[in-house]
Amino acid sequence: MADKKHVRCLIIGSGPAGYTAAIYASRANLNPILYEGIQPGGQLTTTTDIENFPGYPQGISGTEMMEDLRKQAQRFGTDIRSGIATSVDFSGKPLQVTFDDNQTIEADTVIIATGASAKYLGISDETKYAGMGVSACATCDGFFYRKKVVAVVGGGDTACEEAGYLSQLASKVYLIVRKNYLRASQIMQERVMQASNIEILFETQVTGLFGENGVEGAHIVKYKDTPQEIHSDLAIDGLFLAIGHKPNTDIFKPYIALDEIGYIKTQGETTATNVPGVFAAGDVADPHYRQAVTAAAGGCKAALDAERYLAKNHL
Ligand code: NDP
Repeated sequence: MADKKHVRCLIIGSGPAGYTAAIYASRANLNPILYEGIQPGGQLTTTTDIENFPGYPQGISGTEMMEDLRKQAQRFGTDIRSGIATSVDFSGKPLQVTFDDNQTIEADTVIIATGASAKYLGISDETKYAGMGVSACATCDGFFYRKKVVAVVGGGDTACEEAGYLSQLASKVYLIVRKNYLRASQIMQERVMQASNIEILFETQVTGLFGENGVEGAHIVKYKDTPQEIHSDLAIDGLFLAIGHKPNTDIFKPYIALDEIGYIKTQGETTATNVPGVFAAGDVADPHYRQAVTAAAGGCKAALDAERYLAKNHL
């Protein structure tokens, strides 16, 4: 497709929110351009089976679902491009978004669906051993740990899901949880408890890693900052982080109102941000639910909001 510089609706992000917005915007003849961003298909491409999206009684793999959503958006004419939004100028109209530092698109409406990225603990050894035993994606890297010993950090649904997945590959999985309980849903907790090769280490934190040519173990501490504090070393071949996500909003900060964590604030029941014509959907604006189905719903709402904004402003 020929390069287009001005568009009525520009969508940034290719998770369920971005693609659903694209399907609705295309069907409303807004001729949207969608930029895929850093992780084409979004976070679901790094998950295992999605069992809680309505309409799939047998579940569906994350990559398959995202491929279907992409095809559906294409079927209605969405111009899907690869590229990463590197800066924005929302100070005037039209709105401007620059991709890969070299291509600026002018848009009457922008739908931000940039999602969220995995958080890290913030210890220097994570950087030292990046790609050498430290990962934030079990489905991406689990394969390398067949019959090995790994640890997953976190106590939420992601951590339990990752631990469950890894337990089918690795010989032993430690689940390192900083509190004395799991935050995950009941069904996920049960799966972890039932796996014979998963051991949960409650009230434990990782303070460092060691190893010659890759991770050989983790320095851990139990009952941190209490008189009972116990330091020890845990022999592991890989450390998987599953401690939540950070919304991808850095480039929008100068213009878009964010909450204290960095999630985009939307107005009331709508997807409108503080900048007229800019809408936000999916995990980037959702600190509460963060589900594929709620992200898709947000994408739908954002496209409808954009359509109404365009009509109201005769654009
Ligand atoms: P959550 O925020 O739910 O959980 C994060 C976990 O990491 C918590 O146990 C938290 O501990 C722990 N943690 C955070 N920071 C640190 C740290 N610095 N050191 C050690 N531990 C830390 O994130 P998830 O990614 O698990 O889930 C996000 C959302 O996605 C949830 O709404 C979840 O339900 C959903 N989800 C649903 C799935 C499904 O239904 N199949 C699968 C995956 C996710 P603490 O409790 O102490 O804060």
